Amino acid sequence: MTSVQTSGQTTTERAEGLVVGEQTAEHLRLADTYEAHNYHPLDVVIAEAEGSWVTDVEGRRYLDCLSGYSALNFGHRHPALVQAAKDQLDRSTLTSRAFHNDQLGPFARELAELAGMEMVLPMNTGAEAVETAIKVARKWGYDVKGIPDQQAEIIVAAGNFHGRTTTIISFSGDPGAHDGFGPYTPGFVTVPYGDLAALEQAVTPRTAAVLIEPVQGEAGVIVPPEGFLPGVRELCTRENLLFIADEIQSGLGRTGSTFACDLEGVTPDLYVLGKALGGGIVPVSAVVSRRDVLGVIHPGNHGSTFGGNPLAAAVGRAVVALLATGEFQQRAAELGERMRAGLDRLVGHGVTAIRTRGLWAGVDIDPALMDGHEACERLARKGVLAKDTHGSTIRLAPPITIEESDLDHMVEQLAAVLREAGAE
Ligand code: PLP
Repeated sequence: MTSVQTSGQTTTERAEGLVVGEQTAEHLRLADTYEAHNYHPLDVVIAEAEGSWVTDVEGRRYLDCLSGYSALNFGHRHPALVQAAKDQLDRSTLTSRAFHNDQLGPFARELAELAGMEMVLPMNTGAEAVETAIKVARKWGYDVKGIPDQQAEIIVAAGNFHGRTTTIISFSGDPGAHDGFGPYTPGFVTVPYGDLAALEQAVTPRTAAVLIEPVQGEAGVIVPPEGFLPGVRELCTRENLLFIADEIQSGLGRTGSTFACDLEGVTPDLYVLGKALGGGIVPVSAVVSRRDVLGVIHPGNHGSTFGGNPLAAAVGRAVVALLATGEFQQRAAELGERMRAGLDRLVGHGVTAIRTRGLWAGVDIDPALMDGHEACERLARKGVLAKDTHGSTIRLAPPITIEESDLDHMVEQLAAVLREAGAE
């Protein structure tokens, strides 16, 4: 980095030719020096946020079209969610599960009812909830299905992203997530995503469950072929397998429905939830299922010091209350159509393909123009925040509370970035 003085204000030029203010530069220096480099963030240092907009340390405003990877489905600091957190901060925050607390029972009931299920196992992060579902499926496989000890298998899909623990990355196909972290956990079989025939062929008497994302988020908002999810449901019922739907990114309103599975009229055996369940305020995740499935877990089998804490449960209850109105699901569907119409116009003009589900889009930028990271850097310079997934694909997931004019602004800025990069 080199410091330069322009019109009285000290700015710093970053490697990509991006000039940032001195305050930003100082935070970037701290990040470079003291933060482990496990991410490659854009050079934007956010200080404040409200609704769909964030403000950086220089006072510049940006439209947030990533929404914390869908953890901010209701926008930044939604008043009802902030109020629920504030009220609970004044009552109790952590009890541990050694005792009951007066928020967890109501949260479990309300979330189970939203999902049309019977029981909830609360955790904190998404990866922990996925781990929980894996443990439940294995235990169910041994205790209920009668799979011989140590032999349970779970079928997963290529291109998956389920989190970062050592077991979960054992079945990740992403070399960056997987390589160098062995020895790996056995017991997982990978088949191509969306390929029902391959899935059927992979089933053995040792198969306990199928674990899939109903829409693959990190892979670039990959929507499976129509009929795939009902096919998985039918196969799991026929073969006595648990259908585990990881709805951590796709669930809770994002796709225009409470769950992405709803769009194909499918009910899995287990929902794995996270991200937006914490309202962008605290980490809250959960496995939601039937009594005959979650009932295999007994005291001492599984737990978490923080899982189900009263602050998390109070925020989770407020999230469930927002979703129970159906208003956000409908808004995501309506805004999603508007976004799709706007993005469709870019196909052939710097964009090679788009995939959408509700207010969620994977946009493939023509790699001849730039890669996804560069597209996001250029968008950030125009005041719009988004994130690349892989290669030249960027993901757009604005808050469901976004104004229509802001949504149009997002598409216009993307069009401008493409034009400036030489798109026709
Ligand atoms: N599952 C899916 C589908 C995800 O998208 C993510 C995070 O992006 C996870 C699991 C992991 O969640 P967390 O980062 O909270 O551990």
